[in-house]
Amino acid sequence: MNTQSTIELEQLNHWIDGASVPASGDYMEITNPMTGAPGLLVAKGGASEVDSAVQAAARAAKGWRNMVAAERGRLMLAMARKIRDNADMLAEMERADTGKPMAGARAEIEGSAAYFEFYGSLVYLPTGELLDVAPDQHVFTKREPYGIVGVITPWNLPMNQAARAVAPALVAGNVVVCKPSEITSRTTIAMAEMATEVGFPDGVINVVLGTGETVGEAIVSHAQIRKVAFTGSVGVGRAIGHIAAERIIPLTLELGGKSANIVFEDADLDVAAAEAVKGFTLNAGQVCSAGTRLLVQRSIYDTFMEKVVAETQKVTPGESLGPLITPAQFKRVQEYFGVAQQDGAKCLTGGDVAKVPDHEDGFYVQPTVYGDVSNDMRIAQEEIFGPVLVAIPFDDADDAIRITNDSDYGLIGTLWTRDVSRALRVADEINVGQVFVNVWNTMSVQTPFGGHKNSGYGREKGIDAIHHYSHVKSVSVKI
Ligand code: NAD
Repeated sequence: MNTQSTIELEQLNHWIDGASVPASGDYMEITNPMTGAPGLLVAKGGASEVDSAVQAAARAAKGWRNMVAAERGRLMLAMARKIRDNADMLAEMERADTGKPMAGARAEIEGSAAYFEFYGSLVYLPTGELLDVAPDQHVFTKREPYGIVGVITPWNLPMNQAARAVAPALVAGNVVVCKPSEITSRTTIAMAEMATEVGFPDGVINVVLGTGETVGEAIVSHAQIRKVAFTGSVGVGRAIGHIAAERIIPLTLELGGKSANIVFEDADLDVAAAEAVKGFTLNAGQVCSAGTRLLVQRSIYDTFMEKVVAETQKVTPGESLGPLITPAQFKRVQEYFGVAQQDGAKCLTGGDVAKVPDHEDGFYVQPTVYGDVSNDMRIAQEEIFGPVLVAIPFDDADDAIRITNDSDYGLIGTLWTRDVSRALRVADEINVGQVFVNVWNTMSVQTPFGGHKNSGYGREKGIDAIHHYSHVKSVSVKI
């Protein structure tokens, strides 16, 4: 494998038409979040690199779309194997960019392999129907790819989120132009490079590096890009939504969350407390599906919060808790500590930066729990994207449903109760894309994933995702 994307190297280049392409202009300096020191130099692309990538993709599109399904599936499975064979190296790269603990990085890489494996195994899915409209007329439908799909991804689970969109897009017969977050570009480049190594034709996967304003907007605006899968913030999702509306192209928008974790008095409180802490500290809280609003039935509120605080205090910054990604994110989370204080929330643990030995300049904060929060406080309504949990007491199921739905977001809802009827009723009535009962985050590649309200629309993962990367044509034949 070409070593230009390994962690020792200083400059990261674009990957276009099956080859590494140096920046035509500047490189951006990226800071290492564990040390606060300069990390990597990343090519700063623009509209002309996007156009080169689109032209390469256009040249590859017909051959890829017409490749027999079995061959396409074999390449997908070869890619899954390649990712697994290089899992240590890829996890090191992810860790170098994000600072996340190794276990999290490894899980993310395994998830990336699983996307290629899962979608590679779906190449034989029937793609159409035969409709019985009249004795002398046959109508059949078929699913067709959009052509060139833009894939724009954030920094929190970089390779995983790229693979999550790229794998179904390819299996549906599309070719892709990707733009990873400028902060975490390494593994998306490695993914494209590995695809070339296992035999994907040049131009099927292209990656253009750079900022959202230059490369991201150029992708969404490019006349030959017919669909965009975006994962990121609500603000940027809305901005690209305007461009997509002008161009009349479909989007998948996977945006933020402020997900409720609802604990009823009959739950197994020890398990629920341990999982609640995982739910807001995983990836230092920088996960769209983090369970950051803890709704606790009033009758068990004090007992349960003692357990949550004890579990939280076992989470150690620099060991089981990684840093925040950038100086800006570090500052933003500290600002929320101030907002919580002003709003009158009670800090039960944490609420400050964390000093990690040997990483004094790293962007670490303490895992933090606020109690006695009311759902109208800013810390209960806004996505903080750090390891910050807000606890809100509730009276009964209707109250829990009301509080859960009193949010601009609607990504995840988690319930802890032994009462199956209550669980199913609450699951029906909360406005979220995914519900977990007595478990937090069982999402597999098979489970469709996506949001309600400001958390976005469209679905990634599962068989559903393939349908978001293809559209239906009907063919009517008079016989
Ligand atoms: P972001 O919106 O700032 O950036 C996401 C991507 O969009 C990056 O590649 C960025 O460079 C690009 N971008 C920025 N401005 C752009 C523009 N004007 N046009 C086109 N592209 C542009 O998000 P982030 O800070 O990288 O990630 C954190 C956010 O992502 C959080 O809100 C989180 O909840 C969300 N997220 C959602 C999911 C999900 O599946 N629902 C998963 C992970 C993260």
